Amino acid sequence: MTDGQAILGVLALLYIMECMRWLRPTSVAFAASWSARYRVVTRDGCPGNRHGGFLFLNPLPPLGPVFVTQPWPILPAPTGMCLAAPPVFAGNGTSPADAATVAYSALASISIDGNQIKLGDRAVVTCQHPGAARDLGALIRSLRDVSEVDRASLITDALRRMFDANAVGEHVDLVVPSVRTLHGMCVLQIIALFIVCPLVSIRLGVNAALLPLAAAVMAVHSVVLLLCYRCHKRLHPHARGDRMTKLIVMALCPPMAIRAVDAVSIDVLASFHPLAAASRLCSDPDFRTLAGRQMRHLRYPLAAPEQDAATQAVIEWFREVELQVVSEFLESQHIRTEELLAAGEPTEAGSESYCPRCRSEYVVTQGECSSCPGIALEPFTKT
Ligand SMILES: [Zn+2]
Repeated sequence: MTDGQAILGVLALLYIMECMRWLRPTSVAFAASWSARYRVVTRDGCPGNRHGGFLFLNPLPPLGPVFVTQPWPILPAPTGMCLAAPPVFAGNGTSPADAATVAYSALASISIDGNQIKLGDRAVVTCQHPGAARDLGALIRSLRDVSEVDRASLITDALRRMFDANAVGEHVDLVVPSVRTLHGMCVLQIIALFIVCPLVSIRLGVNAALLPLAAAVMAVHSVVLLLCYRCHKRLHPHARGDRMTKLIVMALCPPMAIRAVDAVSIDVLASFHPLAAASRLCSDPDFRTLAGRQMRHLRYPLAAPEQDAATQAVIEWFREVELQVVSEFLESQHIRTEELLAAGEPTEAGSESYCPRCRSEYVVTQGECSSCPGIALEPFTKT
């Protein structure tokens, strides 16, 4: 292997690593694709472990933007707060085994550290993005400081803001024109690094081509950094620390700057629910798929006998509020929840019943779903 091939291999490896993002189990990503609509990615489509998975972004253009959203990783209620939420859009939506409720009086010492919410020195909640952690931390503090009576309206209002599709549209409309020039320069940078440099090196020899190629690549790289700084400042005016960290990493490693559009866009929708983002970013079938999953999760909750009574009460209170807010949101999007929950046609011959939660089909006419404890099977309607 020549020196030129070795350098190219290292640059390609660094770039591929930058194409991977850690996706938490409760998160949903929306990645730009060749079509006008965004591709939906959940934890189920990513290799990883119970804490999350690697989201692989297409290393070839269009190179972003990508948005990652997350429902609240907690379940707040007037009487207390469950510090773990089930992954609605991954697996079968089972609540974490360590889900437990704390009283607001025990939240006197909460603090925010990056994307974590800490109670004393212990991280009790991890969000997808630091911005989401700051928003959630502010909500928890406000709930802690008001009476139990006032908490219900605070929680409901905050949840409704997560489903503000118009605000999502405004954010997306701000991102797309803001990153247009940056996007073009990122495409130019990947062409310069991985196509022009190897071809010119082969033609002229590495020694002869090194200096002019390095100068050309650094010129493009400098413009990408400058545009990235401007875009980040426009989209995240108060995140100066995050901006400088990202720019320093990109400055030291040019292949990472190729994903600069991701870097400035990925947490723009951090404060919104995945369904609100899907209503503006996805095709109608993809939006309905996510909405159906959310509605089935709320209408057919899993039995959780191992949880204490206080935690069960909190989960049930929040489920009813979320069901109301999601139903209102879907109605505003002209989607009837009955359509999302309808049985549909069996996909396999001999299927007599189905699970209304996970949609598994069964040859028996009655019983309980083997994957969803406590959920009774429902018969297919014969036509
Ligand atoms: Zn099931």
